[in-house]
Amino acid sequence: MNDTRAERMPALFLGHGNPMHALDDNEFTRSLRTLAEDMPRPRAVLVVSAHWLTPGEMRVLGVESPRTIHDFWGFPEELYAVEYPAAGAPDVAVRVAALASAHVDAEWGLDHASWAVLRHMYPEADVPVLELSLDVAAPAADHLRIARGLSVLREEGVLVLGSGNLVHNLRLVDWNTPRGGYDWAEEFDEWAKECIEAGDVDALADWGALGRIASLAVPTNDHYLPMLYPLAMRESGEPVSFPYEGLEMGSVSMRCVRVG
Ligand code: ZN
Repeated sequence: MNDTRAERMPALFLGHGNPMHALDDNEFTRSLRTLAEDMPRPRAVLVVSAHWLTPGEMRVLGVESPRTIHDFWGFPEELYAVEYPAAGAPDVAVRVAALASAHVDAEWGLDHASWAVLRHMYPEADVPVLELSLDVAAPAADHLRIARGLSVLREEGVLVLGSGNLVHNLRLVDWNTPRGGYDWAEEFDEWAKECIEAGDVDALADWGALGRIASLAVPTNDHYLPMLYPLAMRESGEPVSFPYEGLEMGSVSMRCVRVG
């Protein structure tokens, strides 16, 4: 294959939500399978992970065989037994390190921001996967700039996949309401949807300007920032769509975004 003529890969933001989705077969997980079937097969997946936080620097996973990390507490035993044995992509990691001024990392693995969605998209674990950490101390504008610098990867067959949740307030989660959201959660999710459709990435990067509903929907930036990556990579005129949407447990948005 001639890489210079590779089809441009879409870029994604996926809500991952409750880790139990990793084991479930439901409307959300089926949408992930359909999404993967509807895209060119990537050479590798670069996950921008809400669960790998490295304030002050960025790291990119550069190992040949990433371990599966079970980074949650109090869930059923079967969730801890899940392994996602995808190969790594050290060659892509070197490229990412150069493009994003990131450090190549040999310690991390695949946390559940990756495998909880990838095991539905690529159940055979036959697409190489690497992760990019989040410098959660950096301003949103830096994340937009870094994402734009990485967008060339789309031309090289790499699927850039931000994994987080655009509304994510665990303190206010209501386990008795599996579907549906608080008024403020719906309002914030709708605002973000309109910004995405309008291509207003700068407004999305300045979410705090919304005041109270923003501080409820995004109490910490870790699950929100991954959304900025695919949106910053959107070329002018490129389509954007929502492969899945909906609120869960009151305070979690499962909205997924496809660019391209
Ligand atoms: Zn999460």
